[in-house]
Parts: sequence; C-alpha cells; structure tokens
Amino acid sequence: MRIDKRTTLWATAVHEAGHAVFAVFLDIPNLRRVTTIPGEGYRGRVDLPLQFQFFCSELERRLAAKKAALMLMAGAIAQESAKGGRGAYPSDADLSLLTDMAGALGYEVPELTDALSNIRFWYQHPFCSVTRKRVYGLMNAGLQNVVMAFAETLYREREIEGHRAMDIIKELLGRDSGWEQKRWQRESARYRSGSVINLAGEALEVVEGELP
Ligand SMILES: [Zn+2]
Repeated sequence: MRIDKRTTLWATAVHEAGHAVFAVFLDIPNLRRVTTIPGEGYRGRVDLPLQFQFFCSELERRLAAKKAALMLMAGAIAQESAKGGRGAYPSDADLSLLTDMAGALGYEVPELTDALSNIRFWYQHPFCSVTRKRVYGLMNAGLQNVVMAFAETLYREREIEGHRAMDIIKELLGRDSGWEQKRWQRESARYRSGSVINLAGEALEVVEGELP
C-alpha cells in the first residue's frame, strides 16, 4: 500500500505516532490503543489514561508529569517535522492536558479561553518552551525516525492495540542508535531499579537535569 503523504490520514498517523513513541520511550504505562479512526471530536487518538493518583511521592508525581508533558507535546512536533518544519498545532485535548501538567509542576497556568490564548500558551509559556526544546532534542537524537517508521505501520493498519504498539515501537527503538535514547534508558533503568527513597538523589538528577 502506497502512502499518500499529502493526506490528513498521514498527518494524523504521524501525530499519534509521536505521542505513542514518546509514551513507550519514556515508559509511561497504560498504552491501550493508538488509532487513526476518527471519533467524536478527534481525527485520531492515543488511549493512555494518566494515573497520577497512584504515585506515592511528590518526586514520582513530578517525574510522571514531566514525562507526560513531553509525550503530549510530541504529537504536534512530530507532525511539524513531517511537514518540513511548518507549524503544527496540538489538539484541544493535548493543550488542556499540557496545562494540567504545567499546573502540577507549579507553573502559573493561563486559562485557555480562545485561539489566541491557546497559541500564546503553546508557543510562549516558559513550561512549553522548555518542554518543546527537550522534545526537539530527543527527536533529533533519533526518535523522529522511530516516529516515522511507526506512523507508516499505523497509516496502513489504521488502529493498533496497545501491547502490539509497544512491541513494534520497542523493536524500532532497539534498532536506533541515538545516544540520547541510550542515556535515557540507562537513567530510567537506574530509577526503576530501587526504592524511590534510596534513589531520590539519582532520580532528582534525572528530574532536574534530564527533563525541563
Ligand atoms: Zn495529540
């Protein structure tokens, strides 16, 4: 099947692939489905309930919020790169969750009431600018190739169940040799390998150093 890269379907596949690849790369749990089959109010979506209530420590909650923010931003940024750098705008759902993450991290969050305030938040808010920079860094370090490869599969299949999406993305990540990805994997393995209290120092390094 040939991929027509001028279509809305391709743009949607790239956008959702951006979210999905970042979710798997950052070990965000609960990926249930990635779809380009439109529903009410969306062209495609990633089903991934963010469950912050289960985190016992503030540190874990903050790390989860930062990871989620990167994943939320990755959709539009993936699409933007696919369009040769021309601006791509996030969905209202992405924006509203991004403000939740910003709020959870203590940023002052504007009320998104109209297109202008949305655009200001997306392009100018300090939380979004640091998150954006980090997403670009990871894309350039190799994740963009993984996103494009996964988008091609998603374009063909239209919808991929969570476990299978994870398998496909993990395999693609394994093939990639981006140094930043390897560094992140090392850090996140270290973070997972012990209790939060024991690893608080190292985790802080990840939280404060690696992420916005
Ligand atoms: Zn999105």
